[in-house]
Amino acid sequence: MPKTNRDFEIYLVHIDPDKCDGCELCLIYCPVNVFDLSHKATPVRPQNCLGCRTCEAVCKSKAVTITEI
Ligand code: SF4
Ligand code: SF4
Repeated sequence: MPKTNRDFEIYLVHIDPDKCDGCELCLIYCPVNVFDLSHKATPVRPQNCLGCRTCEAVCKSKAVTITEI
């Protein structure tokens, strides 16, 4: 059963600051520049997210959670 008639998806991009160690891998690998880093990674452009989940895969701290909404 389709959730909606939308022809696009929207993703929530969440970083757990207690887990993020600032390694920058999510910044490097995200193809659409969702993240910035000051001390911890921050999803400053979540509207760009394509839902590819590369950031989840490369984050060894398991700090990133992508949720389709
Ligand atoms: S890959 Fe994970 S630990 Fe590294 S900066 Fe991104 S969220 Fe933080
Ligand atoms: S799921 Fe893909 S597009 Fe979205 S923030 Fe992660 S790496 Fe970037």
